[in-house]
Amino acid sequence: MVNERLHKSLDRREVLAGIVEGVRGAFGADRCIVYERAGAGTRAQVVAQAARGGTPVASAIELDGDLRKVFGGLTLRRERLPARAAAYGEGARSAVAIPFIVDGRVEDAMLLSFNEPHSLDDADVSVLGVLAFHVGLALSNTRLYERERARRRQAETLERVVRILRDTQYVDEVLLVFVVTVSHELPVDCVAYALEDGVLERRAVRAREASSFMPDNTLPREPLEAFLGLDEPSDAELLPEPARRALFGDAGGVLVPLRLEGRLWGAFAVRGSDESIDWPPVERSTFFRTLGSHLEIALTNAHAYERELRRAQERETLAEAARTILSHTSLQPLAEVMCRFAAALVHAERTCVLRWTDDRYEKVAAYGDGIDETLAACGFDLTLRAQRGGAAVTDERRVQRLIDGPGFVVIPLSRTASDISGDTIDAFLVVGSNRAVRFARDDLRLLQELGALLALALRNFELYEAMQRANGALQESNEFKDDLLAMLAHDFKGPLTVILGYCELLMENGTPVAEVDTIFAQTNRLVRLSEDALVLAQTQSEGFSLARARIDLCAFVTQCVSTASRGNPRVTLELPPDPISVDLDANRFRHVLDNLVGNALKYSEGPVHIALRSVGEQAEIEVQDRGIGIPQEELPALFTRFGRASNARRRGIAGSGVGLYISKKIVDAHRGGVSVRSIEHEGSTFTVTLPLAKA
Ligand code: ADP
Repeated sequence: MVNERLHKSLDRREVLAGIVEGVRGAFGADRCIVYERAGAGTRAQVVAQAARGGTPVASAIELDGDLRKVFGGLTLRRERLPARAAAYGEGARSAVAIPFIVDGRVEDAMLLSFNEPHSLDDADVSVLGVLAFHVGLALSNTRLYERERARRRQAETLERVVRILRDTQYVDEVLLVFVVTVSHELPVDCVAYALEDGVLERRAVRAREASSFMPDNTLPREPLEAFLGLDEPSDAELLPEPARRALFGDAGGVLVPLRLEGRLWGAFAVRGSDESIDWPPVERSTFFRTLGSHLEIALTNAHAYERELRRAQERETLAEAARTILSHTSLQPLAEVMCRFAAALVHAERTCVLRWTDDRYEKVAAYGDGIDETLAACGFDLTLRAQRGGAAVTDERRVQRLIDGPGFVVIPLSRTASDISGDTIDAFLVVGSNRAVRFARDDLRLLQELGALLALALRNFELYEAMQRANGALQESNEFKDDLLAMLAHDFKGPLTVILGYCELLMENGTPVAEVDTIFAQTNRLVRLSEDALVLAQTQSEGFSLARARIDLCAFVTQCVSTASRGNPRVTLELPPDPISVDLDANRFRHVLDNLVGNALKYSEGPVHIALRSVGEQAEIEVQDRGIGIPQEELPALFTRFGRASNARRRGIAGSGVGLYISKKIVDAHRGGVSVRSIEHEGSTFTVTLPLAKA
């Protein structure tokens, strides 16, 4: 009957509860009690009991010498019991206790007690032994089953934790999600620590509702050193005080170290009674180590994500700094902005751009309070005045590399060749922080990148200033030249006109012709030259402007041609029937026609034909001669300053090579064009186009 019951259940307590009444009855005992070992093994508590008439038994007992032997695997027979032995029940006079041996260990023992002072005989005891063997087998089965169930639960827990961790991004998020999930999945409190400056800082904690557990904010690393050095989770009992108390209070639990990239990163602890995670120690350790590995993977990912995020932000800041440089043309405001960038980039409290000016250091710009103290800590002496080249120039000026110390860093910016000993750094970016530790390597890298930008800006400003100075000097000399040219051209014309007047008078009065003719012709040339020079000076100077008015081009050309040809019979003019309206600066444009007609007469001896017509949106003036022509390859050069054709030079025809250059400038200013077609020895045709006036 007992055997039947044994196979009905897979739950240990149920199995035990199922047999006590049957056994008691079968052996005529007054009580049948099954105890299980509790705590460190010095106590036992009742798992199942049956009593004749329901006599109660204490729920937990101290294991005395005899009962301890039962839990060691021996069967006990007592004919006479000591008075009031709590373990045997009120009124018990004799007893038999028998262990249930499961996998070589005794966790439970059965006690039969009798109110009579006699016990079972040997045959009964051996039957009891066989029974205990069967119970042991049944318990072993329930244990296997329970272990299996626990494993499944562990696997499910792991799977859920991993799934939830997969959706996290940031380190703090990972830790929080982890402690919340773990304490939800297992009946435990969970707390996560990160190692910072040699101390374990609490980063996330989750306690079960009923528990008011709140572990310490920080844990000294030292007492835990030996445990954190291990890869294995460690049980609470093994941890040294006071770390054990700080982490677990009165409860038990497990501390699991976390390693990232081979270095200790932090730890997590779960806190709960032994029953809450009552797996065999090996399984417990494996489970928490696996849990720890998953947390480590999630943390590694989160770190990579945060690093990438930070990089992106830094890149954005540096790009903005670079853009800022482009939008500044003077140093001081730029230096101020860069100081703020530097502080933001490395979370520093104060920054400064320092520059050596002639004989001392000067702050170009500064950000934050207390920069002078930082400068002093870096070894800069702002009160120092030195003589260039003198021995008093301090050593710091020669610092070529970055220097840093607790709470400060100096980034060298620009370099000038010094008169004392090779290169000297002239400007620095100084960064100070309230934290008395050195800046991290990443921070130094960022500051160096920013420094490189700033150095570039400094160099640009220097070049810009040098260019401005050079430009100023050039401008001045140019203006002087223009003024001189204009002055000469203008002042020449006056006396020349007087000479011309007298020549004409002499010629009218019949004075010997040849000499006067020569004086007249040469003076005319001088007048032309001085006019060209004047227009040239005007077109060169800035702000060459036109005073345009709407005119009829037919009338204008007729007038110009007549002045230029002075009634020369070689010249013929062809006009369209209708007027042609254009917007012209007549005074300047006259110069163009004068020059083209003059050239045609000068470089030919045959007829010169001038034609005016309108073609589409444009007016076209053509000046055609049958003269010496121009070599094809030299045509483009004619419109440049002082450009002359080789055949004109060879023939010794006087000319300066500025007339066409000026003409082109004037035509261009009217948004027109001038071109030439020519065949050497046959003649040339110059064509000027002008936009027609809009209605
Ligand atoms: P200049 O006539 O004073 O030399 P221009 O600028 O007016 O200066 O002309 C530049 C050159 O173009 C002349 O020196 C000459 O070689 C050539 N040139 C200009 N017009 C003619 C032309 N009608 N026939 C031949 N060559 C010409």
